[in-house]
Amino acid sequence: MFIELVDALRCPVPHEESWLVASATRMEFRHIVDGTLGCPVCRAEYAVTRGVVDFRRAAHRPLPPDLPPDETEATRLAALLDLTDRTGFAVLVGSWTVHAPLLRALVETPLVSVDPPDGTEGEPGISVIRCDGELPLAEGAARGVAVDADTPARVASAVRATRAGGRLVLPGGAALPVGVRELARDAAVVVAEREAAASPPVTLHVRRRS
Ligand SMILES: [Zn+2]
Repeated sequence: MFIELVDALRCPVPHEESWLVASATRMEFRHIVDGTLGCPVCRAEYAVTRGVVDFRRAAHRPLPPDLPPDETEATRLAALLDLTDRTGFAVLVGSWTVHAPLLRALVETPLVSVDPPDGTEGEPGISVIRCDGELPLAEGAARGVAVDADTPARVASAVRATRAGGRLVLPGGAALPVGVRELARDAAVVVAEREAAASPPVTLHVRRRS
C-alpha cells in the first residue's frame, strides 16, 4: 500500500466523507506492508497485511476468471488508460488485475489492484485493495480505471473515482455508464473519458460596505 495513496482512500461505511489515518508496523520503501488504516469518523479499522488493505465487511467476493497475464493485453491497457507518465495512479479492478505486474514493468504510473486473485500481495508500484461493492476511493482521485462490468454500483463508483478527462476501460459489450463519453469500442473493450462533473450552483455572498 503506497503511502501516498492513503490520501485517496475513503472509509466505505456510509457517513460523511473522511480520510483515513494510517499506522504502519512494517514499511518497505514508501509502502505500508503491515499496519492498519483507521477511520476517525466511525472508528472502523482496516488491516493492511502483506501490502493488501482489506475493506471487506460482507461475504467473500467471487474471484475474477483466472486469465493468463498477456504482454500484448498489458501494452494495450497502458495505451487505453493513457499511462504516459508517473503522475497520479491508475486502478485495475477484478479480472484486469492479472495484467498489473506486466503493466508495472511497462509504465511508471503507480497502480492499484482491486480484488485481484487470492494470494496476491502488494509490492512497490502495485497497491492492493479488497473491498465490497463500491471502490473506497475519493471523487476524482484516479487518473484512470479499468473495471469489470460487474455491478452497476461498482461501475458507478469507478466513474466517480476517475478524474475529469481520465480514462475508463470496461469489457466489450458493457453499457456506457452515466458521466462518461465513449471514445472507442470493439468486441473486447469499451474506452470512455470521464466528463467534467456538473458543478452545483454557486451561491454569491455580497458583502456590503457600511
Ligand atoms: Zn468510517
